[in-house]
Amino acid sequence: MLRRVLSCLAALSLVAVVLVVGGGGSAQADGCYTWNRTLSQGASGEDVRQLQIRLSGYPGTGAVLGLDGQFGPATRSALIRFQQAYGLGADGVAGNATYSKIYALQDDDCTPVNFTYAELNNCNSTWAGGNVSAAQAKANALVSMWKLQALRHALGDQSIRVTSGFRSVACNNAVGGASNSRHLYGDAVDLGAGPHSLCRLAQQARNHGFNGILGPGYAGHNDHTHVDHRPSRFWSAPSCGI
Ligand SMILES: [Zn+2]
Repeated sequence: MLRRVLSCLAALSLVAVVLVVGGGGSAQADGCYTWNRTLSQGASGEDVRQLQIRLSGYPGTGAVLGLDGQFGPATRSALIRFQQAYGLGADGVAGNATYSKIYALQDDDCTPVNFTYAELNNCNSTWAGGNVSAAQAKANALVSMWKLQALRHALGDQSIRVTSGFRSVACNNAVGGASNSRHLYGDAVDLGAGPHSLCRLAQQARNHGFNGILGPGYAGHNDHTHVDHRPSRFWSAPSCGI
């Protein structure tokens, strides 16, 4: 009996060790990137830039978070919004709790769990043929996906329907897209209605880092809401009060 209790305790302590190690910064789905230090205002580097990509959907209404690898006040505010959104201690410092949440939110290719590269590109599989390099188009799409993940969470974690993302020049011409369309840069996404209305999507998108929002009432956008990352803000969805 005593032996059985002892072996049981040994098994429990093994479980405890595994849990402690698992909570120490390398959790599930960090196959693409692992943070190795706590980050707070004043820090700089590639790890800050990787954090900024994941926080790009939390810049505050009408704002866009710079992805410059410099942890300044805007990054701190974005981090606090992210922490609040997920019920974490909102201290503006990225440590184990923040990293564990990010790891839980991303797949092994660094895309957020509810969006995929394939979903953001139904034009080709190479991301080539647009207005920027294939690598840049794909990187732009990744940022858009993190913004969409924030939008999705804010709307109650119900699905968001992507109807178009990256387009090569050929694909853009085939669908009659504008010659300067942001779809050619990989940072534009068209969203379809259901479960959210197009206006609900357009209105909420204002909080999640999209410089471009086009929706119902704007020419050619009565059947989808378009969001993008153009250089300066242009929002128009007159039927939605935007
Ligand atoms: Zn569009």
